[in-house]
Amino acid sequence: MNMRRTIIAGNWKMNLTAAEAVAFVEEFKPLVADSTEVEIVVCPVFTALDAAVKAAAGSNIKIGAQNIHWEESGAFTGEISAAMLKETGVEYVIIGHSERRQYFGETDETVNKRLKAALAAGLVPMVCVGEVLAERESGKTESVLSTQLQCGLNGIPADEMEKIVIAYEPVWAIGTGKTATPEMAEETHAYIRKTLADLFDRDTADKVRIQYGGSMKPANSAELIAQPDIDGGLVGGAALKPDSFSELIKNAIK
Ligand code: PEP
Repeated sequence: MNMRRTIIAGNWKMNLTAAEAVAFVEEFKPLVADSTEVEIVVCPVFTALDAAVKAAAGSNIKIGAQNIHWEESGAFTGEISAAMLKETGVEYVIIGHSERRQYFGETDETVNKRLKAALAAGLVPMVCVGEVLAERESGKTESVLSTQLQCGLNGIPADEMEKIVIAYEPVWAIGTGKTATPEMAEETHAYIRKTLADLFDRDTADKVRIQYGGSMKPANSAELIAQPDIDGGLVGGAALKPDSFSELIKNAIK
């Protein structure tokens, strides 16, 4: 039996100020108050975390950050440590999003360091993996994912794995309106789970939640979530408006 709880997270990227984040949360709270089957997370910009945590207090909405640095403090201009995130009250963090890999030099090695820092601090990491279009078209999807998983999860003990969420995001589907078909997404999610079973063991692999990300919206969340190995979503554009995000979540109840 599948015991994995569906997790839907909104990645706001560099959108919504602190005041806008609070307004979003206030409007969103009653819309999702009954969606208790789903773990609901929103990930605002750093400057809005504190206000978003306070606005969401006592509700079923959890708050996450979009990045974390592995050092505790020091000369790392523009970065933020696990303790600094914890101080705001966030419980989740996105790691290795494709935009960070593409624009900010993130690698599987830095993903691994950030992941270890997040786990040590008790934050729930959502680790992003995914292939670009040229890799899919040249049949390299599986080898790209294997490398990202093997390096990104290097040194993580099996008993820590169930605390980690993997976000499979085909880069060609992010912000493009092109969604992987549910069958295509399921095939890749099953491959990711098989890779986790090879890296760890079958029991461990069966406990890890794997989110799909890439143009997920209210109209397609139901059929994506219905797939056996899709355990949630990481949502960009459709998570920026309380009504569309709450509708997406309602449609995503397994
Ligand atoms: C994302 O950036 O994680 C994402 C999936 O974006 P979108 O939903 O807009 O494609």
